[in-house]
Amino acid sequence: MSAYKTVGKEDIDFLRSVVGDSRLYAGDAISKDFSHDEMGGVHKMPEVLVEPLKTEEVSKIMAYANKSNIPVVIRGCGTGLVGASVAIHGGIMLSMAKMKQILELDEDNLTLTVEPGLTLQEIIDYVTPRDFMYPPDPGEKNAAIGGNINTNAGGMRAVKYGVTRDYIRGLEVVLPSGKVIEVGEKKAVKNSSGYSLKNLIIGSEGTLGVVTRAVLKLVPLPKIVVSLLIPFKDLESAIETVPKIVRSKSLPTSIEYMEREVILDSEKFLGKKFPDNTADSYLLLTFDGSNMETVEKDYEAVAEICLESGALDVLVIDTPDRKEAIWSTRGSFLEAIKNSTTAMDECDVCVPRNKIADFIKYTHEIRDKSGVRIKSFGHAGDGNLHAYILKDQMTEEEWEKKSGEIFTLLYNKAEELDGLVSGEHGIGYVKKEYFHRQLGEEQVNIMRGIKAVFDPNNILNPGKVI
Ligand SMILES: Cc1cc2nc3c(=O)[nH]c(=O)nc-3n(C[C@H](O)[C@H](O)[C@H](O)COP(=O)(O)OP(=O)(O)OC[C@H]3O[C@@H](n4cnc5c(N)ncnc54)[C@H](O)[C@@H]3O)c2cc1C
Repeated sequence: MSAYKTVGKEDIDFLRSVVGDSRLYAGDAISKDFSHDEMGGVHKMPEVLVEPLKTEEVSKIMAYANKSNIPVVIRGCGTGLVGASVAIHGGIMLSMAKMKQILELDEDNLTLTVEPGLTLQEIIDYVTPRDFMYPPDPGEKNAAIGGNINTNAGGMRAVKYGVTRDYIRGLEVVLPSGKVIEVGEKKAVKNSSGYSLKNLIIGSEGTLGVVTRAVLKLVPLPKIVVSLLIPFKDLESAIETVPKIVRSKSLPTSIEYMEREVILDSEKFLGKKFPDNTADSYLLLTFDGSNMETVEKDYEAVAEICLESGALDVLVIDTPDRKEAIWSTRGSFLEAIKNSTTAMDECDVCVPRNKIADFIKYTHEIRDKSGVRIKSFGHAGDGNLHAYILKDQMTEEEWEKKSGEIFTLLYNKAEELDGLVSGEHGIGYVKKEYFHRQLGEEQVNIMRGIKAVFDPNNILNPGKVI
């Protein structure tokens, strides 16, 4: 039996008094889309879904839920991949997707203040014509910034620019008690003032507080962006080139790797041709800068390194059509793989960059030994690999057993290589077991202590992360 209160008529009446009729859905009126995230492995409907528009509304709802012992799950756009935004205990789902105003562009301080429901694409569309860039570049542009902050989303440009955490200056957060705090340096650039509560919230997967406003750091928009598509005869030679590129100091913005079979899945899924699909494996590199001369110097130096390391060719992607073909294909990999099987689950490990070849070879060994299809692609420049284990025709029982065994092997290998359970998608519900095993009792207990200070009644996203 659940330790939490079931949502009753009196609770719905209270929530309606806060958000009104048009922003509240109960029981069957809630769309089934809210029962799962994008990976789709964890399913449970919330009892009631509300769409707050203001911090005060969130605050009232949290205070009420806390007092009434009703669990609350925060939802961005539901594009997560680890079950983090699924209401596994029922209760209230707080959908932040409509709280999405751009509050201020401060050109003196290079900051953009936004509400959490704004999508990454909406941020890009706003800042690009104004000659700014918000550097984090996760593949899913329909995710909300609140979700990106709470998963510390990574993405393609992390090699040069870093991840979401590096671009958050300040946050307004509603605590489970309903109290509202502002954390971080806000618009100041530096901060050496005690423990960083901001950094605890970033990546906390909606377990510590509700982000209701964020001050993002912007950079000037690079004027020149050029990509190179580099075919290799096999994955090993492609991946083994990555540390050489990193060592060269001609730092690309992104270093992605892809295999032919994933490109073919994607061509089939999108009904569009990739500029080249003849080689076994590819590196996709991007360079940016303020003038063509420096960008060219950098990419020519790296092209040379690739050719010396066995690259079959170097294709310069500098026209809008070719750029679109490459990046739309890259953006569809996850869905294309999903479309090629009955169900799948993902391993998002992050290993030191010079160990990624060892890890990928290991996934191939496991695939060959187990007979289970494993496909991968990822951020080679960050050592962050996305390996997808495909269910195909397995029964539920076989799938559970085999995928469990394979995940254990993969996470053990990642640990042996000094890697982490997740590089960017988070722990959520489905990766807890592996995360706890890696972290050890001492650190799990510290994290539980932190959770208890923020959320003593354990009502915010219970059962996730720790
Ligand atoms: C095709 C595809 C490509 C992807 N590529 C990348 C990638 O390159 N890099 C990457 O990092 N991820 C990637 N992802 C994963 C996903 O898009 C990210 O995890 C994203 O940050 C989730 O945002 P969301 O708005 O969908 O959040 P949700 O999935 O709704 O929620 C994610 C977590 O954030 C919490 N949360 C959401 N909003 C708030 C808030 N306002 N306050 C507190 N907690 C909140 C939720 O409770 C949950 O724990 C990809 C996903 C897909 C489907």
